Amino acid sequence: MGDHCVFCKITRGEVPSNKVYEDEKFLAFTDIHPAAPTHVLVIPKEHVETVEDIPSGNPMVSLLAERAVRVAKQLNLREGYRLVINHGDNGGQTVYHLHLHLLGGRFMAWPPG
Ligand code: 5GP
Ligand code: ZN
Repeated sequence: MGDHCVFCKITRGEVPSNKVYEDEKFLAFTDIHPAAPTHVLVIPKEHVETVEDIPSGNPMVSLLAERAVRVAKQLNLREGYRLVINHGDNGGQTVYHLHLHLLGGRFMAWPPG
């Protein structure tokens, strides 16, 4: 599972990335096409395709958010930031390995485009 997944390859070190946080189960690295001055992706090292694949009662999203908050503090995003999970084609998901976007460094307009 995850043999051809780019985020699994990043986790295994087969694709280079600019890591900003790592622990046993999670990894955070900067997005290759940043949509904001700060754009970090927080991922589980385990291959989970989408938010719908998280088993009921599993705290995965909470753990991802906790890491994102840690990175936001580390990067000094004092004026605020946005956390996003895209799901499926209409949700704008392009990489099918669960990830939480951390976007900051500018005013994030709402609603998004
Ligand atoms: P999604 O559209 O699935 O929510 O987000 C996927 C994100 O992954 C996109 O913002 C895209 O720029 C980023 N991305 C895709 N391939 C790579 C890669 O090889 N390295 C990095 N650092 N980011 C990537
Ligand atoms: Zn993967």
